[in-house]
Amino acid sequence: MLQKIDHIGIAVQDLQEAIQLYEKMGFKLVGTEEVADQMVKVAFFPIGEARLELLEPTSEASPIAKFIAKKGAGIHHIAFRTDDTAAELNKMQETGIRLIDKKPRSGAHNTKIGFLHPKSTLGVLMEICELSEK
Ligand code: ZN
Repeated sequence: MLQKIDHIGIAVQDLQEAIQLYEKMGFKLVGTEEVADQMVKVAFFPIGEARLELLEPTSEASPIAKFIAKKGAGIHHIAFRTDDTAAELNKMQETGIRLIDKKPRSGAHNTKIGFLHPKSTLGVLMEICELSEK
């Protein structure tokens, strides 16, 4: 079951610059992390029960680099929390939703994640995300 919005992913060109801006706006940085798998550096800012996840590409081959080249910096994805990513992906597929990830993979902050294809969700890239340590 999808439980709540876990985070909103925002693509940025320069993470340091973005961190400075968000801190100036009053958001509190709780950590940064490099996710080699997705070729991104990530910074987290909690807001209520959710977080903002700023993503800077570490390679031209990163999906975030491609996103910025095509659409510019901005909102990249919305992530929904579940307690079982694999089950949720299966359920989505049964409903006819196209998946980017057929199976869960590792995300930042020790999570199991999977993306739905934006072509089957009216243009919104959605991530399903489960905390590995429950
Ligand atoms: Zn995410």
